[in-house]
Amino acid sequence: MAFKILIAGFQHETNTFAPSPATYDSFVRGEGHPAMARGEAVLALRDVNLPIGGFISASEQQGHILLPVIWTAASPSAQVTEDAYERIAGEIVAAAAQGGFDAVYLDLHGAMVAQHVDDGEGELLARIRARIGADVPLVASLDLHGNVTERMLASADALVAYRTYPHVDMAATGARAERLLARLLRDRKPLAKAARRLPFLIPINGMCTMLEPARSMYAALGQLETGSVVSLSFTPGFPAADFPECGPVIWGYGEDAAAVRQAVDALHDMMLRDEAKWAVPFLSPDAAVAEAMRLSASADKPVVIADTQDNPGAGADSNTTGMLRALLDNGAQDAALGLLWDPEAAARAHAAGVGATLELTLGGRSGTPGDTPFVGAFEVVALSDGRCRYDGPMMHGMQVDLGPVACLAIDGVRIAVSSTKAQMLDRNLYRVAGIEPEAMKILVNKSSVHFRADFEPIAHAVLVAKAPGPMTADPADLPWTRLTPGIRVRPMGQAFGG
Ligand SMILES: [Zn+2]
Repeated sequence: MAFKILIAGFQHETNTFAPSPATYDSFVRGEGHPAMARGEAVLALRDVNLPIGGFISASEQQGHILLPVIWTAASPSAQVTEDAYERIAGEIVAAAAQGGFDAVYLDLHGAMVAQHVDDGEGELLARIRARIGADVPLVASLDLHGNVTERMLASADALVAYRTYPHVDMAATGARAERLLARLLRDRKPLAKAARRLPFLIPINGMCTMLEPARSMYAALGQLETGSVVSLSFTPGFPAADFPECGPVIWGYGEDAAAVRQAVDALHDMMLRDEAKWAVPFLSPDAAVAEAMRLSASADKPVVIADTQDNPGAGADSNTTGMLRALLDNGAQDAALGLLWDPEAAARAHAAGVGATLELTLGGRSGTPGDTPFVGAFEVVALSDGRCRYDGPMMHGMQVDLGPVACLAIDGVRIAVSSTKAQMLDRNLYRVAGIEPEAMKILVNKSSVHFRADFEPIAHAVLVAKAPGPMTADPADLPWTRLTPGIRVRPMGQAFGG
């Protein structure tokens, strides 16, 4: 049966400790996401690996009529401004208030904090519910990094989250939301729900679903989703939002309340039993390089070090120098680091030409505590216009323009310098600087987890280093003020307020 469904998307991952807010203009541009789209233009996202893309294409296959309002997202940053929130949420709520549809689907992140609202998604869902009444099904999809709140769970008929990090199932999650919505429309009765909150924060580096313990947790979740248990989700959370409901949540829906409760409890117990496994062994820059040199001495593949606190995908500037210093101080050879964002250094290398040696003040320009520019003599090894294509699994086929790119060498270390910021999540971002990543002994990637999709297959081992950078990797290092008292600020860590 064909239904009319109002659809909209409003995504932001808010780090309340970050310096700059997300303005209306950030959403207009999209900042690495598709630009803001309205009305029919939203339907052009149907083939994109986004929740709304999967929802649109699944809905069209079912013959539903879609009424698109707006789709918009901005890069992770500090709070969404009140202006941006009210304009975008206002547009969605106004469309919901007009009626003329059977159901509502929203493509949300789940960790949005606005300047005037702690729980961006809960507020939006509640405002929509107030307009559409209790009987119109309201379903939303969420990022795996959502901080799911009581208000979100209470306002929506169903919420469903990604199950992969790196996020390769965004469209698949949208398609799951379509199946849930179609079921609610068909059966005309709400599903029973159960939810449980976990008592510890998890570093994002510990959430990679290619690795344990996340791999087993999501496998168990899939196995429990059977019979009268219709949908289960687990969001390990975004541990950089200072409000009382920051943290991991497990929830589910089903026809039988006792069965859903039992499945959610089973997953909750598994998490408590495995708490220690969710801790991340962060290394100091020197310890990471020393360990990489030890491992790579007898390896035939590179050892990859994640320079996680300078990840531009989480709002950093990709220009800190702590890992470069550690490579040089420890005498690492056949090492490469990328991408280091320094348009001025790239321009000087292009002006000097391949083979030239340059005295440069490299990187370290963002005023990050503990980080300074690196001054040294670098050889220009390769130059390019910075245009390349992603061939890795995450952004496969997408084109990127890094602006002028240079490979600079100092002692045994090569640095891929770019003129625009991009997260090192694809091997081609080294190749565009003339570096063959497979031929190196050590690679230092400015990324947290997304690089694993393309680099795990060529890595002998992956280490995570904590060089000074703006994106605090260990939630225990953050100056929390508003968490729920008693929640542990890292797995097996100290309790907040305790
Ligand atoms: Zn995410």
